Amino acid sequence: MIDFRSDTVTQPTQLMREAMMQAKIGDDVFGEDPSVNELESLSAALFGMESALFCPSGTMTNQIAIKCHTQPGDEVICDVLSHVYLYEGGGIAANSGSSVRLLQGNRGRITAEMVKNAINPDDIHKPQSRLVSLENTANRGGGSCYDFIDIQSIREVCSNFGLGLHLDGARIFNALIAKNETAKQYGEVFDSISICLSKGLGAPVGSVLLGKTDFIKKAKRVRKLYGGGMRQAGFIAAAGIYALQHHIDRLAEDHLHTKLIESALQNKDFVGEILSAETNILIFEVKGKYTAPILCSILKEKGILAIAISPSQIRFVLHLDVTPAQVQQTIDIIEKL
Ligand SMILES: *Cc1c(COP(=O)(O)O)cnc(C)c1O
Repeated sequence: MIDFRSDTVTQPTQLMREAMMQAKIGDDVFGEDPSVNELESLSAALFGMESALFCPSGTMTNQIAIKCHTQPGDEVICDVLSHVYLYEGGGIAANSGSSVRLLQGNRGRITAEMVKNAINPDDIHKPQSRLVSLENTANRGGGSCYDFIDIQSIREVCSNFGLGLHLDGARIFNALIAKNETAKQYGEVFDSISICLSKGLGAPVGSVLLGKTDFIKKAKRVRKLYGGGMRQAGFIAAAGIYALQHHIDRLAEDHLHTKLIESALQNKDFVGEILSAETNILIFEVKGKYTAPILCSILKEKGILAIAISPSQIRFVLHLDVTPAQVQQTIDIIEKL
């Protein structure tokens, strides 16, 4: 099977497995796991941020960040397609007691102007606007990336109005590669950043939350509260270290593969709008002789797995377990449909 359902389906490479088996470990709740400590300092250094916290999932790093930035009754501003809003089980309400102001952005991206207009005045009737959460790349936007200058403008608005700025950077490395940007640029403008190791980077588990020392100290308390304090987590941290050292640059290959599949889909009579591929995600509309679920089942019979994200849209996600030969095979199959 060629699995395009998600970049979370990857299996650790042989070298990653070896790094995991050789990991130095200890009890991380006591702060004594050398591999977790190394992953945290490596991640913080990469982004030029003060401190970092290793967590089991990106949902947990996002939710901890939102909890640390807000008080119950506050308001979080984000795009209507945000993972923090759509796919974290209502966690903003359940964990932080915050309300959410949803903005209708462009493929998951919002602007400084939109943020400014959404900030509530100092009025006792209204929730206090406290945090802006951005997503880069934007999953439901089809792997779309921000222009860094737009993020800087949002930073300026947040600073002027005293709002925190969080980045859901589950796929930030895809954005950095696609836009030729550096992690340090991001570290300079965000108050907190959540990165995922188990998406395109190919680690089996894990996410890291980055921020200032005091923020991460508070985050560590919340991680324990949420049941995320892990013991000999060095085995999985070692996979994360390996991923950060070896699997970032290769994301360019996934982006190329995505574009090749996009080209194969163009001009097919059953394909409507394609959200033009910017990174490793391809979302396209299915029309005419197929619906999205029907096309998915046809593809499955031919050995290709993809997800129908709506009755008329399919998502392909490229990752390190998809070989160039499999991409060619996929293109050949699409051409015959
Ligand atoms: C995958 C993902 C997350 C985190 O998901 P987990 O499965 O909890 O690790 C967060 N944000 C985005 C945009 C994602 O795609």
